[in-house]
Amino acid sequence: MTAAIKEIGPTYTFNKGTAGFFIFLHVGALLALFPFAFSWSAVAVFFFLHWLTASIGICLGFHRYLTHRGFKLPKLIAYFVVFCGALACENGPIKWVAQHRMHHAGSDTERDPHSAKKGFWWAHFNWMLYTLPEFDDREILINYSKDFSNDKFYRFLDDHFVKIQVAFGFILFAIGGIPWVVWGVFLRIVMVYHSTWFVNSAAHYFGYKTIALKDDLSTNCWWVGIIAYGEGWHNNHHAFPKSAKHGLRFWEIDMTWMAICVLRFLGLAKDIKVAKLKSQTCETTSQKIFTGEIVEQAA
Ligand SMILES: [Zn+2]
Ligand SMILES: [Zn+2]
Repeated sequence: MTAAIKEIGPTYTFNKGTAGFFIFLHVGALLALFPFAFSWSAVAVFFFLHWLTASIGICLGFHRYLTHRGFKLPKLIAYFVVFCGALACENGPIKWVAQHRMHHAGSDTERDPHSAKKGFWWAHFNWMLYTLPEFDDREILINYSKDFSNDKFYRFLDDHFVKIQVAFGFILFAIGGIPWVVWGVFLRIVMVYHSTWFVNSAAHYFGYKTIALKDDLSTNCWWVGIIAYGEGWHNNHHAFPKSAKHGLRFWEIDMTWMAICVLRFLGLAKDIKVAKLKSQTCETTSQKIFTGEIVEQAA
């Protein structure tokens, strides 16, 4: 953490609001340790909402659909999955997608908002505590997401995702009382945060690389693959960003891809792009070398 901060230039401004918000959520999540905030139904709500907001919302909606356009969806279904992403409370779709596209445009270089070369904790969450014009300026963000940033619903989610979360918290309170708020909002958001943040940190540090990429630290990290619903197969993803499927070898379990397959079965996800690996053996080292290509599945 200190090493990362030393590298931060004078143009970075510490964002007290974001830091306070993260502390508030983490303290709220700790209430889950107390019996007054426990109920078995709240635990079920936690697991369901973790999956709905992280896998369906962030991984499927914000990431594989909106950022990388790995498949097509009917507009109402697209709005639903992106709304689930806004419920993860990781910004609205415009800012999230724009900053993630910056990450791919210059992975682990100065052009990357959360370059893993600046340290594990910088990539995990420190980068969000600082405002830098080139990564946070509204016009630049809109420019990075101009294929959908004119959409009024997506703009609404970007402007009001915190208020939406508060309203959602009141609905949960009305149904299940304090336990549903503690487990369904505070603990769930914190666990979703760290699940997805580990993609930027651990999946740029630990694991194996199927495809060697220049200036790019992305790895395939099995435990991030599990807790982040397939997004931990991150070296595959950096090699083939448009692929809707991130787990490319038989052991690379990808729960978000399973959800996309359900949508395909229902006739809702179409024009799905999938990476296919090809292997060959290196003559000098006898090791397998992987390359691949994107194949489009019509329906
Ligand atoms: Zn990455
Ligand atoms: Zn991506």
